[in-house]
Amino acid sequence: MIAAPSWAADAYVLFVGACLGSFLNVVIARLPHGRSLISPPSSCPRCQSRIAWYDNVPVLSWIALRGRCRRCGQPISGRYPVVELLTAVLVFAIWRRFGGQWATLAYAAFACGLVALTYIDLDTWLLPHEITWPLLAVGLLSPLWNLRLSWTDSLIGAGAGFAFFAAIALIGEKVLRKETMGWGDVWLLAGLGAWLGWQALLPVVLLSAVQGSAVGAVLLFLGRAPAEKTRAERQGRGSVGGGAPQGEKDDTPGAPADSWYSTHPPPGQPPHDPDEEDWVPPPHAVPFGPFLALAALEVLLAGDGLYRWYFDAMERLFG
Ligand SMILES: [Zn+2]
Repeated sequence: MIAAPSWAADAYVLFVGACLGSFLNVVIARLPHGRSLISPPSSCPRCQSRIAWYDNVPVLSWIALRGRCRRCGQPISGRYPVVELLTAVLVFAIWRRFGGQWATLAYAAFACGLVALTYIDLDTWLLPHEITWPLLAVGLLSPLWNLRLSWTDSLIGAGAGFAFFAAIALIGEKVLRKETMGWGDVWLLAGLGAWLGWQALLPVVLLSAVQGSAVGAVLLFLGRAPAEKTRAERQGRGSVGGGAPQGEKDDTPGAPADSWYSTHPPPGQPPHDPDEEDWVPPPHAVPFGPFLALAALEVLLAGDGLYRWYFDAMERLFG
């Protein structure tokens, strides 16, 4: 433990967090395509010109350039500064919560992994093993820095997390013949159980389900289903590869949603595997990974307050 953090330490932590976010932008863009995270250095996605270091300062460069490439003037996605800012805020919150301990470094890495998984899931509907497996492995060491967590709690957390979602996935596949749960989500919940202990599994699952449903309902209401873009892309790609003229029938509005869950895909559509990029998300689906990540961070940063609020509310209702 060190003395109360000064403003200099706060500024330093924010800066380091933003730099980590800058690296996460590279991870999010490259890892799903199997590209190196180290070389080549960052370049403009439009004109391919190298980005100089002074144009690559997290958040600030994007603002200074007003969101445009210095060379070609084409817009640079606002998501880059958002990821940098989000990571900076998360790392800062972890620093304020845990202070000068090893736990701060460990949880900063945890948050970085979750930010990367969130955006990769939003982009690709995948939670890559390259991140979920290391997250689980490091999580099983978390009693080293989390003194409130025993080795057994962490191990049971990983096992129970895996078993719980694996059961949902298997029941979906074998009984309902629907894709209910991706295997990426199964590995992610195992990792969260390892990091936070089995006691956190129920709060994480409930928080993610409630918030995921709420966001899904709002998006549905606004007519902005996140799956639509991916569906359009992948169905287009599938019909090019498959060659069978099946696009028109399935693209008509009001096509039965269940056909996309089915283990017997429409003619011409290759049998899908949830681990493959060709999997087409069902209409109005919302990726679950970001909500698991959000819930895990809520439990990590506000867990004690959340539990207190919950038990107070229960007592007032029933006590
Ligand atoms: Zn450019």
